[in-house]
Amino acid sequence: MPETVVMKFGGTSVADAERITRAAGRIVERAREGNHVVAVLSARGKHTDELVSLAHEVSQRPHPRELDMLLSTGERVTCALAAMVINDLGFEAISLTGSQAGIVTDSGHTKAKIIEVKAHRIRQALDSGKVVLVAGFQGVSQRSLDVTTLGRGGSDTTAVALAAALGAEVCEIFTDVAGVFSADPRIVPEARRLPVLTFEEMLEMAASGAGVLQLRSVEYARNHGVTIHCRSSFEEGPGTVIQDEQMTMERPLVTAVTHSTSEARITLLRLPDRPGIAGRVLTALADANVNVDMIIQNEPESEGHSADMSVTVPRDDLPAAREALEGLEDELGFGSVQTDDEMGKVSLVGAGMKSHPGVAAKALTVIGDAGINIEMISTSPIKISCVVREEHVAAAVRELHTAFGLGADSVLPEDVAGDHRPKVSS
Ligand code: ADP
Ligand code: ASP
Ligand code: MG
Repeated sequence: MPETVVMKFGGTSVADAERITRAAGRIVERAREGNHVVAVLSARGKHTDELVSLAHEVSQRPHPRELDMLLSTGERVTCALAAMVINDLGFEAISLTGSQAGIVTDSGHTKAKIIEVKAHRIRQALDSGKVVLVAGFQGVSQRSLDVTTLGRGGSDTTAVALAAALGAEVCEIFTDVAGVFSADPRIVPEARRLPVLTFEEMLEMAASGAGVLQLRSVEYARNHGVTIHCRSSFEEGPGTVIQDEQMTMERPLVTAVTHSTSEARITLLRLPDRPGIAGRVLTALADANVNVDMIIQNEPESEGHSADMSVTVPRDDLPAAREALEGLEDELGFGSVQTDDEMGKVSLVGAGMKSHPGVAAKALTVIGDAGINIEMISTSPIKISCVVREEHVAAAVRELHTAFGLGADSVLPEDVAGDHRPKVSS
């Protein structure tokens, strides 16, 4: 029985005819080895961005269903072109849209969730000796049968979902960097490639802005036990393997600095201080399909006074969030909604920091010493995130990367908290 291989090529890796030909060559190589090959392709280069701009040229708030119809075309173009190349190379290839590939989603246009993968058509094509090319980032809504898209970076999730459905042991993500690094190599050139990461670490990294993998793809991989192998499409190299914790070695204290420059903050001023209010606010945002990240609310100093509440959301969600909250003004009777769309976030991630409280103190001090004001802070057992103004994000990332020595082989507890456990390498 041939092994099933799922390979995904991102936008830069298929940006033009020459790169599509090169990716097709790699796909054919794997087929030649006797594998069943499914390749998920992204839209070429900045094609998706161009389609988004086009939509905004004709409409201020493009209708989400129609936006999905438009955006889904980018990956179809790449798949058809790659199939032509592969056919010319003497292999039978078939390109499929997300819908044809059986990717069934909910109806959340522009960020739909995969509900089910009906992979029979892919299996049939593989069994008849074809290479299968699947348009990433899209599916079909279970209820309305409309075309949906899976959110920016969603081709990663398509690939992982197919790997799970087809029983592939590994999902290979080919991208424009040599793997997952200790910080975005575009901002920190001395960042280190991380050979192995746990799902837990990669989830926190993806959630806090490491766009090299879409967050959903990592969640899906963890839930279905699919190992992800993230590697360069331009050179041979070991890349980064993301897998279950028990298979990996002891983790370093701090693994990576991540960042996001596309946050927005919303503050509700003078909210009534009554039970149920916070729930009502968050429900309105959830109903508008807005992903809330940080939430901060202080108890008023004295009873009967009003409270202020701040949340951060992805900048793209700000118009929908504002509309949802303004709709609550009459019902809840709060003062006003203030928004700021020039926020960013910098985070420190490391599975080893669970039991080492010194990390937060050091991180906050490093940012403060750089003269950067921290506007909000949140923590999880393995992450510390600080909201700062967007213009300060790059500096904060570099300061933290240097202060925690992340370019070195690994960061050990004693470097931060005076713990003298034996050294382990990552
Ligand atoms: P693709 O088009 O292949 O999906 P993306 O642009 O989505 O590629 O993701 C790759 C990019 O992710 C890299 O070019 C890099 O700038 C960025 N990135 C951000 N954080 C990291 C990180 N920690 N490690 C590697 N790349 C990162
Ligand atoms: N083309 C889509 C995007 O640019 C999906 C992807 O590349 O994963 O977000
Ligand atoms: Mg991507």
